[in-house]
Amino acid sequence: MATHDYRQPTLSRTDPARVLVTGGAGFIGANFVRLLLADTAWSVTVLDSLTYAGHRRSLSGLDPNRLTLVEGSVCDADLVDRIVADHDLVVHFAAESHNDTSLRDPAPFVQTNLVGTFTLLEAVRNHDRRFHHVSTDEVFGELSLADLTRFTETTPYNPSSPYSATKAGSDLLVRAWVRSFGVRATISNCSNNYGPYQHLEKFIPRQITRILDGVRPRLYGDGRQVRDWIHVDDHNRAVLAILTAGRLGETYLIGADGERDNRSVLELVLRLMGQPDDAYDHVADRPGHDLRYAIDATKLRTELGWEPQRRDFASGLATTIEWYRANEAWWRPLVAADRAHGRHG
Ligand code: NAD
Repeated sequence: MATHDYRQPTLSRTDPARVLVTGGAGFIGANFVRLLLADTAWSVTVLDSLTYAGHRRSLSGLDPNRLTLVEGSVCDADLVDRIVADHDLVVHFAAESHNDTSLRDPAPFVQTNLVGTFTLLEAVRNHDRRFHHVSTDEVFGELSLADLTRFTETTPYNPSSPYSATKAGSDLLVRAWVRSFGVRATISNCSNNYGPYQHLEKFIPRQITRILDGVRPRLYGDGRQVRDWIHVDDHNRAVLAILTAGRLGETYLIGADGERDNRSVLELVLRLMGQPDDAYDHVADRPGHDLRYAIDATKLRTELGWEPQRRDFASGLATTIEWYRANEAWWRPLVAADRAHGRHG
């Protein structure tokens, strides 16, 4: 990213800041809102169009004096401009986020991930607001299984799917708005998240809820693809660290050294749920399935002193399994909705 002499952020957790969180009714966004209300003095507005992936109930029980939910799209320029004007900073989680869906129907990905990010950038430019863009390590494409290379902030972009291509494009828009217009922005690219409130279309909750329902889980191909797992709270604490102490115009990679192949994750889920390791079926691999992702988070650790707090994957997974066991009312409606839309399987 550009190295202009941008004003450094002076935001403190104890300031009474007004934060706009886009996509705050989705998986990571809802966990982020919960973190902000617990760990800062900030008041939060969530802007979320409540697609199949966004749920009011993910924000239930939170203080209504500090949290407002606005149902609307990040692509609605008038709405976005008005809301951004009323806030000190914007944290942008809203996205179409599922690779498989992007292969079937890329149009909403182009709309939300590219046009939505453009719309927000124009509003923060117009009102000179601090902006943080939440992105993924999938923009870098895949690594080989054979070597130990990991992604860094300088790895070239090489996205594989419509999802990762639109996220890559949105990152580049942010960089251009920083460079061309002096927008006060930061970017983070994080590895695969797990934790509570994650939609059942994603790997870990899909396996957990199938097992809870007595249905055999299924694994794409031979399951040797490696993902770098991080607990959602560690991701969100890193985003908060970037907001309060990150250098403007910079990109930070977020990862917790959690490389595991899909097969061993599924076998661990089965074990933790009292099932035999091999109680699953194989299904055909999806096209363009990236082999390996892995993050080198040295910059985040050394510059901002961030360290993951949930390093033990097995115990993070056990807590997540317990959450799904205890919160059937949250996920049960998704099974029916997804079956009706052909998304469950
Ligand atoms: P999610 O699909 O669970 O949530 C996305 C949210 O965005 C939903 O609440 C949805 O209703 C909302 N949304 C979609 N289109 C919108 C629009 N046009 N206007 C307003 N809101 C809209 O996704 P997630 O897993 O929570 O991911 C959040 C962000 O983090 C995404 O930008 C994603 O690319 C990034 N990310 C995710 C992971 C991961 O492992 N899940 C890893 C790295 C980065």
